[in-house]
Amino acid sequence: MTEPIIEIRDVRKAYDDGPAALAGVSLTVRAGEALAVLGPSGSGKSTLLNVIAGLDRPTQGSVTVDGVRVDRLGEAASARFRRERIGMVFQFFNLLDDLTVMDNVLLPAQLVGAGRAQARARAGELLDHLGIGRHARAYPGRLSGGERQRVAVARALMNRPALLLADEPTGALDTASGADVRQLLTELNEDGQTMVLVTHDLGLARACAGRTVELVDGLVARDVRHPEPGAAAAAATAATNTGSTADTGVVEGSGGAGAARAAEAGR
Ligand code: ADP
Repeated sequence: MTEPIIEIRDVRKAYDDGPAALAGVSLTVRAGEALAVLGPSGSGKSTLLNVIAGLDRPTQGSVTVDGVRVDRLGEAASARFRRERIGMVFQFFNLLDDLTVMDNVLLPAQLVGAGRAQARARAGELLDHLGIGRHARAYPGRLSGGERQRVAVARALMNRPALLLADEPTGALDTASGADVRQLLTELNEDGQTMVLVTHDLGLARACAGRTVELVDGLVARDVRHPEPGAAAAAATAATNTGSTADTGVVEGSGGAGAARAAEAGR
């Protein structure tokens, strides 16, 4: 077994006097895993991502990411931790439209004070690797949705994050672009990138995730590992269609909900 990248222990998160967004979630994600988080609207998926990213502090329980108790970090340390160790991808890309593609991708490196020449070399390599090198000097507004999401993925990978978090990464894309981004995320995971994807896109879960966690009312209702990633979506589809709780894999722990706030990504 590889080392845990995420360890969530008995996390509860309540906002004001509402029902708990996370009602007691424990979840371990190991290095190299791709985890898809599914569940109905309001089930806590966004809250789970926020808690993992340190954007939200749990009301109870502990959250350890890449060896760091993120639930104990202050605001500045939490922002620094995100910049250095976590890459984030959002439904609507969250690129800065008045910066070129290259400058968008360079931003995370600048925020951690990386050397300029080295950062430019890495950004160029990433853009080439993701098939968008020819757009380096373009502005994001001139690119298709799929290309913009590739830029956002390049930006997320710039500082070699231990963990990639994605909130509905195919949610704003047409079918072809969605397939393109699915393929990209699948390849990244095959190359060893640990990732957590919040998604309604069963195709994404099918293509990419070796494990699916389904949240219901802030609790992990299902936690299924798929020996073949292709089996993930079949199980997810069955669950969605029937409400079945029959699992096809190994249950490990119980999880929470969440989605990180876009505006916080680079802070
Ligand atoms: P999902 O991402 O699955 O749609 P969320 O994590 O966004 O679910 O929300 C889970 C629950 O927590 C919902 O009932 C939602 O209304 C509530 N919630 C989420 N964020 C806040 C907030 N900032 N303030 C108050 N309630 C919130």
